[in-house]
Amino acid sequence: MYSDTVNKLINQFERLPGIGHKSAVRLAFYILESPMQVAEEMSKALIEAKKNVKFCSVCFNLTEKDPCDICSDKKRDDSVICVVENVKDVIAMEKTHEYRGLYHVLHGSISPMNNITAGDIKIKELLQRLSDDKIKEVILATNPTVEGEATAMYISRLIKPLGITVTRIAHGIPVGGDLEYTDEITLIKALEGRREM
Ligand SMILES: [Zn+2]
Repeated sequence: MYSDTVNKLINQFERLPGIGHKSAVRLAFYILESPMQVAEEMSKALIEAKKNVKFCSVCFNLTEKDPCDICSDKKRDDSVICVVENVKDVIAMEKTHEYRGLYHVLHGSISPMNNITAGDIKIKELLQRLSDDKIKEVILATNPTVEGEATAMYISRLIKPLGITVTRIAHGIPVGGDLEYTDEITLIKALEGRREM
């Protein structure tokens, strides 16, 4: 139906999460009908973001400098690490302005259904950070889903023998919900009501 070049463009949009074939066609035609400048700016932004934005070598948050602003902020409490599944969860927590410790981004959760094991997410890297005596508490803020709970249990079993306090955020967050879609008040309450595991 479309030329090879147009098909190629549609295929690229279809790779994006949440974009089906119909939306991909709509986006492709939007680009084709726009001035050249739009395509140039968009491709430039894509390349620049990929070149300049990396994962922090300490916490695995997205950053343009390493270590990231949070890890290198001397005013933050470096005795507490809040463990989250995704980068977007860090943003959700930061928006509350309540939490002043550090983070660790796992980049996923343990999910046997999807063949994701403990070795596929940043658990080993978390344990390496805990060899530093400064860390007194680890807050497990994985999502209240089956996978998030399993991941929290798994990590708490590894950390407890180290003599570090392990807490889990409280469930003001709806079961099956996502941290990134939770409103700030609920998230503050969940953080305040965390309990030892
Ligand atoms: Zn960092």
